[in-house]
Amino acid sequence: MADKITPAERSQNMRQIRSKDTKPEMLVRRYLHAQGFRYRLHDKRLPGKPDIVLPRFKTAVVIQGCFWHKHGNGCGIRAKAPKSNLAYWEPKLERNVQRDRFTHAALREAGWQVLVIWECSLERSERGATLHRLSIDILDNEAGRVAA
Ligand SMILES: [Zn+2]
Repeated sequence: MADKITPAERSQNMRQIRSKDTKPEMLVRRYLHAQGFRYRLHDKRLPGKPDIVLPRFKTAVVIQGCFWHKHGNGCGIRAKAPKSNLAYWEPKLERNVQRDRFTHAALREAGWQVLVIWECSLERSERGATLHRLSIDILDNEAGRVAA
């Protein structure tokens, strides 16, 4: 299938999608900071440079854009994504998914709890519940370590 947009237009489109992608991460960071959690960002020493790392709770939080990381069927953001260039994007997205699988497994193997937050779960109607659940999951991990 022929592409009707130029490479310049395409990269402009993608920049817009990418810049929107950074907002969910900021929401999570602001929330954790307000809750008093201490964290590191994009720790290069860990597989996949996880977005947020909480060393005390041995937890990595990964915020995934629904388009870029191929969120599942129930996802409203993915359902609305343009389908026209899918043949072009599909192999790239599939590589992202493979990489996610690999890095999350490597983190777990190294003893880290990996918490994935999907972009759509931070939309206004779900945000409060998502962030609340996140803080509980983080705290639970410390309880688990103390008990062990
Ligand atoms: Zn989604």
